[in-house]
Amino acid sequence: MVRAMAEESGSRLERMSGMLKRRGFILPAFEIHGGSKGLYDFGPNGGRLRNRVNQIWLDHWISLGNVAEISCPTITPYEVLEASGHVGEFSDFMTACLACDDVSRADTLLEKDHPNPDSLSKLELNDLLKVVQPECPSCGSNQWAPVIAQNLMFNTTIGAGNSGRAGFLRPETAQGMFTSFPSLYRHFREKLPFGAIQVGKGYRNEISPRQGMIRLREFNMAELEYFIDPEMPLDHDFTKWSEYEFNLISEAKGEIKLSISAAVDAGIVRHGTVGYFIAMTHDF
Ligand SMILES: [Zn+2]
Repeated sequence: MVRAMAEESGSRLERMSGMLKRRGFILPAFEIHGGSKGLYDFGPNGGRLRNRVNQIWLDHWISLGNVAEISCPTITPYEVLEASGHVGEFSDFMTACLACDDVSRADTLLEKDHPNPDSLSKLELNDLLKVVQPECPSCGSNQWAPVIAQNLMFNTTIGAGNSGRAGFLRPETAQGMFTSFPSLYRHFREKLPFGAIQVGKGYRNEISPRQGMIRLREFNMAELEYFIDPEMPLDHDFTKWSEYEFNLISEAKGEIKLSISAAVDAGIVRHGTVGYFIAMTHDF
């Protein structure tokens, strides 16, 4: 069952990326120099489409009135991503084929044999790899090196020589919103709640980007951070969605259909602000 579902979604994904390439939405980047996995150009149709989607998304959230658009550098000092936990934790488990040295994500190799391999520890991945002995996607061999954690950030040096400072290409846009908090707070006259939003590039040195546009090494991100005072009373207006029943998954009852205000009142959505953002996201 798991195997059949994985194959079905895999072939749909391939048909979809094939169509996007033929019609000039996305194109493998640098192809005349052999190409580079996980990097794509947005072609004549894709470039325009991407900008329009970005703008519609920005307009949707800026219309709230207390959300400001910012734009932060993609090159980020080491200390910022150390503080956020990315230096220590932002990694995937990889293994190398003993026959051809090609590296793969351990969980991807086990996708067909475990319902949620992403949740497995390094030890569990090692054990399952030995039992399943999946084929190497490059050469078909089935002998794998021990699993190791690989940090996904591209590192770089900011500045030259001894004065150079360690840094990374940002793996997400969120840090800019957090490090800009003091100036955002001043901009909003020191009153919560408010939000900051940005669209831009993010970078992750994926171990083996094989899933079309889903796992890229450079990609577009769109993030919003919303800052609230948890002790302040909430007055979210849910009337716009009073007639609409949302598909929700409740911890106790599984899949249910409920209006967003009823879900907040019942504690199924644990915070009014989260409920409000679920509804706003649904509208987009
Ligand atoms: Zn191999």
